[in-house]
Amino acid sequence: MELRRGSIAIMNKALLTRYLALPQPDTKVIATYIWVDGTGENLRAKTRTLDQEPQSPEEIPWWHFSGVSTGQAEDSNSDTYLKPIAIFKDPFMLGQNILVMCETCKYSKEPAATNKRFKCVEAMKAAYDQHPWFGLEQEYTLLDRDGWPFGWPKGGFPHPQGPYYCGVGASQALGRHVVEAHYRACLYAGISIGGTNAEVMPAQWEYQVGPCEGVDASDQLWMSRYLLLRIAEEFGIQVSFDPKPIPGDWNGAGCHTNFSTLAMRQPNGIEAIDKAIKALELRHETHIRCYGRDNDRRLTGRHETANINQFKAGIANRGASIRIPRQVGEEKCGYLEDRRPASNCDPYAVTDILVRTVCLSEKD
Ligand code: ADP
Ligand code: MN
Ligand code: MN
Ligand code: MN
Ligand code: MN
Repeated sequence: MELRRGSIAIMNKALLTRYLALPQPDTKVIATYIWVDGTGENLRAKTRTLDQEPQSPEEIPWWHFSGVSTGQAEDSNSDTYLKPIAIFKDPFMLGQNILVMCETCKYSKEPAATNKRFKCVEAMKAAYDQHPWFGLEQEYTLLDRDGWPFGWPKGGFPHPQGPYYCGVGASQALGRHVVEAHYRACLYAGISIGGTNAEVMPAQWEYQVGPCEGVDASDQLWMSRYLLLRIAEEFGIQVSFDPKPIPGDWNGAGCHTNFSTLAMRQPNGIEAIDKAIKALELRHETHIRCYGRDNDRRLTGRHETANINQFKAGIANRGASIRIPRQVGEEKCGYLEDRRPASNCDPYAVTDILVRTVCLSEKD
């Protein structure tokens, strides 16, 4: 999205701290409801006051919004419901205030078209006794307000890739303020953020969420994306989840999905991992359909990817669709890494299809 500089009022953000320091009545909780909109990729949020602190999502009232304005309903039946499903502490409003991840439901209370969580929960329930765990590596790119990567020379390109991955220094690490603020905000909110690193393309970064069991991983990843967007907003920086923001010799952005079941984590779990890989190979196209928009621009067979039309698996192979981490190969148990999902994927859809193929033996 491109914004004209002249249209942006320069605000003194330090003033906000005066108002956030105002005492807040004990009985009032500011709850921000957050949901995936009609694009299936973007988030929306709106805020209300609750009169008591909820102990669980079931205690938070359903709410509604105008689905016409989010690509989620037709004019005639515009009200779309928000069903609270997970609570996080609010690192912006602080105190007893909360962020509430929501599912969207049509006026009939059936899941909305972009509500991929509903089906995901069904799969996770059916596979409950296999204890599926997920670790999600979210990559993203920071952009200036003009849509060009943050810190890149205007009208030009930085030095070619090489010094940026895990890079340190003013011309290697572009936008670290956002990354560090986001890390602390995730921990505060209650998200299992596992780590972060600068990526191969300058202004591209990664953080990991997990391992988490079942649908939790995706609830947390969506909330972590919300925090990232909000924090970058405060810095006046845009976040792009495009899988290939700059064409050419610049790495794309993925959401590698690390996956294991109880059987894979136990001694000689490598047998279960090998079996899973065989099942995944048979459903490659089906999985690709669930792994994010425009992923063909990223999965070219170059830049640490396998070609979108090929299924390849291997130990420590970063050019594979599925990689078995070196340590897992040595210990003969652990997890596999599905390297195919794009940075803009819906983790509900990704973890859903993984569990259906591997744990529930679904076939095409
Ligand atoms: P990479 O070498 O691919 O960059 P990372 O360290 O970025 O790996 O990410 C590895 C991810 O795998 C982490 O999110 C971690 O939590 C997750 N992980 C570790 N063990 C398991 C497991 N048994 N099941 C699922 N995910 C796991
Ligand atoms: Mn109104
Ligand atoms: Mn990683
Ligand atoms: Mn990475
Ligand atoms: Mn990875």
